[in-house]
Amino acid sequence: MARGDDDRLFGPLTELVANGRDPEDAYGFVNPPVMRGSTVVWPTVADLKALRGRYTYGRRGSPTSDALVDALQRFEGSSHVSLAPSGLNAVALGLLATLSAGDHLLMVDTVYQPTRQLCDGLLKRLGIETDYYDPTLGSDIAGWMRPNTRAVFVESPGSLTFEVQDVPAIAGAAHARGAAVVMDNTWATPLFFRAHDFGVDVSVSAGTKYLGGHADVLIGWVSANAQYAAAVKATHGQLGLCCGPDDVFMALRGMRTLGVRLAHHQASALRVARWLESRSEVARVMHPALESDPGHALWKRDFSGASGLFAFELVPGSDEAVAAFLDGLELFGLGFSWGGYESLAIPFDAKPVRTATRWTPAGPTVRLHIGLEDVEDLIADLEAGLKRYGAG
Ligand SMILES: *Cc1c(COP(=O)(O)O)cnc(C)c1O
Repeated sequence: MARGDDDRLFGPLTELVANGRDPEDAYGFVNPPVMRGSTVVWPTVADLKALRGRYTYGRRGSPTSDALVDALQRFEGSSHVSLAPSGLNAVALGLLATLSAGDHLLMVDTVYQPTRQLCDGLLKRLGIETDYYDPTLGSDIAGWMRPNTRAVFVESPGSLTFEVQDVPAIAGAAHARGAAVVMDNTWATPLFFRAHDFGVDVSVSAGTKYLGGHADVLIGWVSANAQYAAAVKATHGQLGLCCGPDDVFMALRGMRTLGVRLAHHQASALRVARWLESRSEVARVMHPALESDPGHALWKRDFSGASGLFAFELVPGSDEAVAAFLDGLELFGLGFSWGGYESLAIPFDAKPVRTATRWTPAGPTVRLHIGLEDVEDLIADLEAGLKRYGAG
């Protein structure tokens, strides 16, 4: 739908609004219907044997899931998209589609922690060996590759600490040795990082975050280029993965406003990050869109925007002072996940979840998700909190 008569591509905001729906198919209603169903029936034995028609069984797709799949595929500019019941499940699908027993996986050290647990748990049990590498490695990743390295996993910026990776350099080294590049692109979304344009073969995302956007749905997706489309599709089918139609609908609904929400998250988060940089209680702000950030040049080269999630190091202080800062915040919920309309804060320690690099912050570290509230209200809330920290 989002292609003009002359097959011209529309801009990304138009694509987000127009794709995955066709009012003519829905009695004129703007949105596609929520189709519930397991069984699909055929009128005759001959039709059944030929599996005639578009659908065969609810697990294998429905008009509702196809609407989201179609929209995401155009959003990614990819050959195939599979839906998954959570972001972590999308990560697992991406890895299981590219790796087999006896294979070696290179995993970035700054990966989302549950992905690390998948590698050190299930994948290890299946005979897949993982080595963790420094996120600042670019083409030097070549030195880490073995004859049986079948996949290099990137997540940029990294979870908790926001290191930006040189994805094209890593992809060049991986492809030269026949390995797949799998990326967790949850932070930027395809709106701000077109993963497949930078050499990523299989891009996984937690739709739970910005796609859903309202902290009310768990969903994920895996996007594959032509080379890996068949493997992702087959693995998805064999695992029997599917999502409930209401969750699929919520994700599609979230997609319509993704562009305007991300623009607001981006502007407010950058404003808060710059303000934090000016504060004496703050030692360092980890936000790749800040000129001071070590990953800024790479971010500027490859990304077209920044989302609302970043972190900062406080100057040294006690756990009690951190608790006084965070417990007293009025507008920031203390909780995991992010990408919803609401602001969130968590204290974190990346030390126990790094094995290939050392994490040595100046003081306690806090991650913020900047929501859609008035940014001046958020800054006032943080200012009062930092005063409590300074007094602690
Ligand atoms: C939240 C998150 C996931 C997992 O998503 P769920 O839907 O919670 O399973 C994966 N990767 C990253 C980077 C995330 O932040």
